[in-house]
Amino acid sequence: MKIILAVRFTALTIIMLVSQPLVAADRFADVDIATQQVGKNVYMLQGAGGNIGVTSGADGTLIIDDQFAPLAGRIENALKALGGDRPRIILNTHFHGDHIGGNAEFGRTGVIIAHDNVRARLLSQDNLPTSALPLVTFADSVTIHFNGDELALIHLPQGHTDGDTMVWFKQANVLHMGDQLFNGAFPYIDMPSGGSVDGYISNLRRVIRDMPNDITIIPGHGPIADIAAVARCLEVIEDTRRIVAHGLDAGKDDASIAADLEGYAAWGQGFISVDRWIGIIKTHLAQRGSLE
Ligand SMILES: [Zn+2]
Repeated sequence: MKIILAVRFTALTIIMLVSQPLVAADRFADVDIATQQVGKNVYMLQGAGGNIGVTSGADGTLIIDDQFAPLAGRIENALKALGGDRPRIILNTHFHGDHIGGNAEFGRTGVIIAHDNVRARLLSQDNLPTSALPLVTFADSVTIHFNGDELALIHLPQGHTDGDTMVWFKQANVLHMGDQLFNGAFPYIDMPSGGSVDGYISNLRRVIRDMPNDITIIPGHGPIADIAAVARCLEVIEDTRRIVAHGLDAGKDDASIAADLEGYAAWGQGFISVDRWIGIIKTHLAQRGSLE
């Protein structure tokens, strides 16, 4: 009896020990971190989750966003391959898990800086260690002088969330837009966290109006972009918003509205499908209380 129990226990234990870590690790097992130079001393790292911006030089290493916790070691290796080290400063463009997962690890030795609302939203999650929280927060803007460049952190209100920041490297002429830009795809707009379709639109207009025309742009997701790519995203969001509003006005159902959006099928291949995008616009229009 004891032997049988012991065998059962052992078999069960092995299944638990083996299967659970494998399930958890699998998602990131094959993720490699790819590095691309985007400007003088400025790089983009891509693995899984939001694109990471990097500057590395005499003042040390600064990163913008840090993807998922299991990738922290691979991200650190990529920074070392650039001649850098563990980041002295970590900037968070916003609070979503695919942009702040490495905070807990990198925040042990570096200073995390983000908008006030990022800290507030992370504080409300009870599973995060204090090392994952921003130490420095700001309301509208702050400037960081680092590696011979001037990094302007500018809050973009009520777009993707209510706590988004874009980071402008003034010397390198590079802009990290976080999830205020999904290059070539419909954006995720997190309305329960203060996001807004119309706010997202006005933030894109502001980038086109205020930023140098020849700036290189790191999007939150997708390949390297420029002002023309931002203008294209703006055009797609405005046009699809109009099509959905007109469809609702005409009493169409989701399937008919989706058919009207057929020309934009390629934009629904990413995280946000055409159907989810229609849902986001419908929710936004219902909240506004009008269909114009
Ligand atoms: Zn996001």
